Amino acid sequence: MSLGEPWVFPEIRLSLPEWVGAALPPPGHRYATDGEKMGLAIALSRLNIEHGTGGPFGAAVFEATSNTLLAPGVNLVQQLGWSGAHAEMVALAMAHKRLGQLDLGADRQVVYELFSSTEPCAMCMGGILWSGIGRLVCGATDRDAQAIGFDEGIKASDWVEQFRRRGMDVKQGVCREEAVSVLNAYQRQGGLIYNGGGAVRPSDCTC
Ligand SMILES: [Zn+2]
Repeated sequence: MSLGEPWVFPEIRLSLPEWVGAALPPPGHRYATDGEKMGLAIALSRLNIEHGTGGPFGAAVFEATSNTLLAPGVNLVQQLGWSGAHAEMVALAMAHKRLGQLDLGADRQVVYELFSSTEPCAMCMGGILWSGIGRLVCGATDRDAQAIGFDEGIKASDWVEQFRRRGMDVKQGVCREEAVSVLNAYQRQGGLIYNGGGAVRPSDCTC
């Protein structure tokens, strides 16, 4: 841009890949168990790498009383060219927009729960707290993500306790092996590891 020209900024549009709708059961489907809900988050993570639309992470927001899906999410970092487009953030953005509600915990009678194929990174932990989500369920662990080179950021070792102290129910390790199999498939296919400040390779991990 040369001197004297007006500022021009891009429009940022967040939308899910076209294949997502076809991967979901009909609206109103009632999920019977945490395993079934996590199965959806993991299926989204797997399909995301099979379709080449992003990293190996999926998430979904459910309404806990009716056990119905409110909003799916997949990692769109590469597709959008935005480092913050993690699956959890995408699912939460879709949930806020679908409800027209910026605080998912505003109605104490309704609990929304986030299922994430891998435990949230430092950024998503903040996003989850601000969203008003009442329950978080995770598949693969921090270490599983770090094992293939992803940076989870600076997280307190007692983050689960801290979440619980703020009134959020947290459950870890649901269908972990299945979630890890997607991380490993991504590594096998040579998927891009896109950490800020340069890639952190597994050999760099100090854990
Ligand atoms: Zn994240």
